[in-house]
Formats: sequence, C-alpha cells, structure tokens
Amino acid sequence: MNNEWVGSLQQFVDGISSSVAVIAPATDRGFPITAWNPNFIEMVGRPRLGRVGPPYVETLFPTYARRELVSKIEQCFATLEPMELEQAYDFSDQTHWWRLSLKPFRVDAIAQGQHQVLLSGIDITTKMRLLKDLEVSTSRFRLVVDAAYDAIISIDHEQRIVLFNRSAEILFGYSREEILGQSIEILIPEANRARHRTHVNRFATSPIQSRQMEERNRVYGRRRDGSTVPLQIAISKINNGGLVEFTAIVRDISEQVRLTELLEEQATTDELTGLPNRRQLGAFVEELDCLRRSYAALLVDIDHFKSINDRFGHDVGDEVLRSLARLLRSAVPPDQLLARIGGEEFVFVLEGASSTEARDFAEEVRAMVQALPVPAIGGKPLTVSIGVATTGEQGTDLAGVLKRADDALYRAKENGRNRVEMAA
Ligand code: GH3
Ligand code: MG
Ligand code: MG
Repeated sequence: MNNEWVGSLQQFVDGISSSVAVIAPATDRGFPITAWNPNFIEMVGRPRLGRVGPPYVETLFPTYARRELVSKIEQCFATLEPMELEQAYDFSDQTHWWRLSLKPFRVDAIAQGQHQVLLSGIDITTKMRLLKDLEVSTSRFRLVVDAAYDAIISIDHEQRIVLFNRSAEILFGYSREEILGQSIEILIPEANRARHRTHVNRFATSPIQSRQMEERNRVYGRRRDGSTVPLQIAISKINNGGLVEFTAIVRDISEQVRLTELLEEQATTDELTGLPNRRQLGAFVEELDCLRRSYAALLVDIDHFKSINDRFGHDVGDEVLRSLARLLRSAVPPDQLLARIGGEEFVFVLEGASSTEARDFAEEVRAMVQALPVPAIGGKPLTVSIGVATTGEQGTDLAGVLKRADDALYRAKENGRNRVEMAA
C-alpha cells in the first residue's frame, strides 16, 4: 500500500469527531485497518494499536460483536453497497452503544484503485440510555394505569380518546381497540353532550390545571349498551406542544347513589305502610308555604283501634293499618299528599282546597272506609273520624293547622265517631 496516501488519509480521519477507520480488503489474516482516528480507539476500548504491523478488525472488537461486524464488512466489499449496524460493547465502566456505518470507496490514483471501506461510528449510548429509561417509565406508567381501580381516559385536543385503561373498559363496556380514536361524546349521554363540549372548552382555556367535575346535577356516563351510570370525575390537562390534552379519572358511584337514595327514601317513608312519613309531610307543606299556597289538612284517626289490637292481636292491628293505608292511598288526588304521622293517624294535605271541598272529600273518605269490610277482622267494617282544617287567616304553619284539625277530630270523637268535623 502507498505510504504517502495512508499518511494523508490518517490526517484526514484524525480531524473527524465521530470514530472513523479505513478497512482494506481482506488478506489471509483478516481485514487490515489502515487508518483510524483517536475516537476509533475509544470506541474499541483503547487497545494498543500499530505495534506490529496493521491491526485487523477481527482482533479489535469484542468476540461477541465480531461475527456480525465481519459479515457486514464482507458484504460491503462484495456488494459495494453501504451497510449500517448497531452494536453494544461492554467496557469496564459501562456498556457503550455504537451506530456503525460502512461505506465502500475507491481512489483510483492510489492503492491500486482498490476499494476500501470507511467504517464510521457514533456513540449512541446516551440516546439508548434515555430510550431505556423512557421504556421503563412507560411500562411503569402502563402498569399503574392498567392496575388502577378507577377508569382513566385521556382525550386529545380534538376530544378523541387516546388512552382507555382496563377499568374504563369494564365500566363502559367498550374494548380499547374499538374506542381509541373515537370522540369522547360516545361516552356521554346525548342530552349532556353540548354542555360537555362547553365545559371542556372553558376548562381548556382556564388557568386551572385540574379539578373535580361538578355540576348542579350529577354527572352521568353512557355505557356501550346505552345505559347511563352516575360518575365522579376528576380532570386534568396537559399542554402537548400547544395542543391541550385532558385526562379524566372516573369512578362509578352507582352504589353510593343507590345507598343515598335508599337512605333518603327510608328517612321519608313510613316502614309499615310505605306511605310518606311526618318528615316528608313537613317538606311538602314547607314547599307550599314557600309558594304561599293555601291547603287543607285532614286528620284521619281510626275509631276504637285499641280494641282491634286487644281482640285480634297487634299483628292483625298492623295488617288493618296496611290495608287502610292502601285504601286511603287509592283516594289521594294527583299531586296531593297522604302521610302516616302516628300509630293509627293519617293526614291528607290538599293544596288549594276550600273548606267545603275539603269537607266533601273527607266525607267521601269516611264513607269509603265504612263501606269496605276488612277481612283481617272477620269482614267487619272499620270506621274513621276526621278533623279538617284549612289555612286561612290563622296562617299556614303546619303545626298550627294540625292542632286545629286535631281539635276538630276530638269533637268528631266526642260527637259519636265515624264523623267529619270542621275546625272553627
Ligand atoms: P279512638 O276511637 O278514641 O281513637 O280510640 P282508639 O282505640 O283508636 O284510641 P287511640 O287512638 O288513643 O289509640 C290508638 C291505639 O293504636 C293505641 C295503640 O295500641 C295502637 N297503635 C299505635 N300504633 C300502632 C301500630 O303501629 N300497630 C298497631 N297494631 N297498633 C298501634
Ligand atoms: Mg289515635
Ligand atoms: Mg283511634
């Protein structure tokens, strides 16, 4: 080989910051390296070079990396096509990743016009390490997201679903494959979609980064089968290169809602008869008070109920109360109220009824009860006495109205029972 040419090539490669070496065609001892720069020495782990003749590629690279590299060099010489490969070398300090490229070249004037291969390498260790870190944190993130008890859903700036975890699949009944890329509106009941769009846009431009989704009414989601589900939602946003993405952590609160409703119902319902109790009566009248509506109250009390208990037992007494409740319930006009407020005392509240209307209604009820034989007490009829009071000059206060109705009831009892009496 021409020494002058080799010398100038050496100067050339010395000036390059990536690691560079020139490989000559194979001899019977291997591929000789005819020039290299200091970075190349770094790359191959600082062997002592050039002490006895030219070094051979085979001897410079770790054994585990040799076969692949040599095969690529052979291919490069054979095809005269450039080649690329990535290799990792374990040095004492750490593993180094290199991207190597092999390029055949020929200078006619020198080296008898033979092809040489220029090997150049760039250290991509930092990039590989970052990729590895990224891979670890991505898998960690995936694991957390998928193991999460809550549904986690992310949408991009166009409100298309880009993340949908396992709990979200279970909650909404959609598989990840079918929902990714779809609009978030698919998960929102139709009636709430427009409002949702406004909320998202407002949140996108607000300075707040995360918040609970709160509306005066409950937030509902729409499942794949069209059913709705009450939800608690916390949303946060991230700015992805100027485009806002949102992530929602969604919890199914059906069970809480069911229990709350059950408690509400239990708190306002009489257990024995299922009628509204005194508390619900209070709320109903309070509403009438707020609206300044007049009403009539009918206080209904069973005659000689104690003797029914005494003769037939308390259980039969209960059965009588239940059947009377059913009968009275059938008489309640729409939007009016019937409540059980005590042992065997019931109250009708008739909104807007005049005292005449209230008395006529009370008379109907009294006659209806008397006309119906009660099987639980041997088919004998039951009678009730009713005291009626209306709101008026005396005011609308429930306690006051009930007191006057009770006074009238007392008179009905005094006057022989199975009667209706009007408050003074
Ligand atoms: P009056 O005609 O004067 O109203 O006579 P009464 O026997 O109905 O007298 P009162 O209204 O004072 O008595 C009510 C009775 O109702 C007393 C109590 O034993 C009975 N009672 C109250 N609550 C219940 C209940 O939940 N179940 C049953 N079986 N009896 C009840
Ligand atoms: Mg009583
Ligand atoms: Mg009674």
